[in-house]
Order: sequence, then structure tokens, then C-alpha cells
Amino acid sequence: MSLGLPLVSCSIDDAYSDEEYRDRIQKAKEELGDRVMILGHHYQRDSIVEHADATGDSFRLSRMAADSTAEHIVFCGVHFMAESADILTNDQQIVSMPTTRAGCSMADMANLPDVEECWHTLLDELDLSDPISRENPEELATENDNFLVPVTYMNSSAALKAFVGKHGGIVCTSTNAQGVLEWALGRAGGLGKVLFFPDQHLGRNTASKMGFELDDMAVWNPQTIPNIDEINRAKFVLWHGYCSVHQRFTVDQIDRLRDAFPNALVVVHPECDQKVVHAADADGSTDFIRRFCEEAPPGSIIGVGTEINLVQRLNSQYPDKEIHCLDDSVCPCSTMYMIHPRFLAEQLESIINGDRRNIITIDKQTSKDAIKALNRMLEV
Ligand code: SF4
Repeated sequence: MSLGLPLVSCSIDDAYSDEEYRDRIQKAKEELGDRVMILGHHYQRDSIVEHADATGDSFRLSRMAADSTAEHIVFCGVHFMAESADILTNDQQIVSMPTTRAGCSMADMANLPDVEECWHTLLDELDLSDPISRENPEELATENDNFLVPVTYMNSSAALKAFVGKHGGIVCTSTNAQGVLEWALGRAGGLGKVLFFPDQHLGRNTASKMGFELDDMAVWNPQTIPNIDEINRAKFVLWHGYCSVHQRFTVDQIDRLRDAFPNALVVVHPECDQKVVHAADADGSTDFIRRFCEEAPPGSIIGVGTEINLVQRLNSQYPDKEIHCLDDSVCPCSTMYMIHPRFLAEQLESIINGDRRNIITIDKQTSKDAIKALNRMLEV
């Protein structure tokens, strides 16, 4: 097991050095002052995070943007995060990204037409009801009710959050997934089901913590013919999506770490495979992982199953502990990594010049429906 933590290097090929980008960003930030707020997701590289006014997970950052008075919100993260920020901020605030090419491969695995097709197939084939057919979608269902309640992970497009909002469903984060799924089951009724997208692993790990067996869960893959009998037996229908970063972690990696360091602690994200989550000492959101490392006793050796930029930062922040990424091959989230200091410098300079570029705008109706689903989450 390698003890060294290789640095993730910056690979963009251009005329400026890292130092020159730093200077350009700092100068632009000074000029913009309170007019701009830069948000940096935990998985961003250090040369972005050093300029962020706030760091955190996607929902926390979006709420901070909504609480701020900054005219411009520059979101250093992936596309769905900037969409959420635009939904939550007021009409005067302008949300942009250093590059709009930074998407999330997991979020892209569930698009609205595919989800709608799944939705109608389940309603028709399984004799389920749309929660909007109820007078009050907020009230608990009975043992004889058969509603199909949609739940989307925060890592999904605004269009899917709006779909869920319109159909009496709810959004979840990796922190509150269990409370949200309990809410959804309560609205589905004894004969109903929960449709969860896009991350099958978060859905499976959460349902499993609630005491459900694998037979209670079926996977929906829009590329294959659905097994309606299997789906009919299940309580949860899980979209087949997954995170390309978290699916890299394996039980073998955990075993190798524990062979090398028998007292090592292991913490992973619930987007990892269920076997990995079961083999770890703990699992939770990026904020949970951060706190786990912070609270571990001095001298701890900790193996972490999440994105490398966060793991490397934790290792630097807590020099009295050894914090390792479980995956030796050190692969950052490739789309998060598209946010390069050059693009941040250019985005800030374009705001100074009055250019409207890389702006993320969600239309009013989509925002209104998505907010219904987000508000339900906040009430859980
Ligand atoms: S780490 Fe995974 S879920 Fe997060 S942005 Fe990257 S691909 Fe998406």
C-alpha cells in the first residue's frame, strides 16, 4: 500500500503559470468586491478552493448563495449545482460557471424523457397511481393506497427536480436520504412504491439501512427491457445510475489497507457499492467524511472512499493523521476537474467587462416545481 499521496497536477496547456492565474483571479476578485461570491465544491482542486468565499457540498453552497447579497454567484462545481443555485437565488442574482462543460456523469444518466417513460410504464403496468391524483400529496397514505412516489437525488438536473415536484415527490441529499425515503414510503401507501433516481447505490444503501432486503429493490435501466415481475415484487425501483468516481472503490482496497495497517479506520461515501459500504467503518456525505477525519484521534490512519481532491486536502489539514484515498490510482472527478483556474480568471474578468457568458438560467415554471420538491425535503 502506497503511503505517498501523489498530487493531482494541472494539465491545461497554455501560456500562463499557476502563479499568473492566481494573480489574475485575486485582482479580479478585488475589483468586484462584494458584487461576486465564488462557491467551491469540496471536490474542486486546491488552486480553485483557495479563491472560494465558501466551500461545501452542493446544497449547502446553493443555500449560502441564496442567503448572500452578491449580484454574481460563480459556482465552481458541476452543472446541476449551478442550476440548484439559480433555483434558490433571487431574480436579481446571476449564477454562472467558469465553464458550462462541467457536467456530472451520474446526473446525465437520468434524463427527463427516459424518466417519464419509466414513470408511465410503472403506472400502467403495475396499476399504480400518480400522487397528483390525491387531493393533498403531503398527507400520509393508507395501507390500501398504491401511489408511485418519485424521489430524486440532489445530483440531478433541474428538469428532474421539477418533475418530482409536480408529481408529489421530493429531493434528497446524501445526508438526509433515509429521512426522505421514510417520508416517501409514508406517501406511497402499503401497495405503493418509491421510484428513486439517478444513483442506484445511494438508493440501495439507504433502503438497506432502513431494514429492506435486496429483493425489495429492483433496478430500472432504460437500455434494457424491464422485468415487470421483479419490479412488481419490489418496494423501491432504483434508476441504474452510478458515480464514476465512487464506483471505483472496492472491498479489496479496504482489505489491503487493513492488512497494511490493522487499526486503520475506513470511511466511504454512500454512492459506493453496497459491499464497500458494508466493509467500511462508516459512510456518509462529504461533510460527514470531513467531520469523521476531523474527530478521529491524533495518530489515526484513515482510508477514505471519495474524490481525491477532498482526500488530499483533508490529509494536509490534519497533519497529525494519515489520510489516504482507498484507490491508489488517484483519479479525480473528471468533470469537476474541468474547472481550471484559467476559466475562473476568465469568468471573473468577463463579469468586470459586462459580458454575459456561462450563465445558468432555469425558467420560472421549472424553478417553481423544483422548489416544491426542495421544500418538501426541508420539511422532512
Ligand atoms: S463525483 Fe460523481 S456524483 Fe460528484 S460530480 Fe463527479 S461524477 Fe457527479
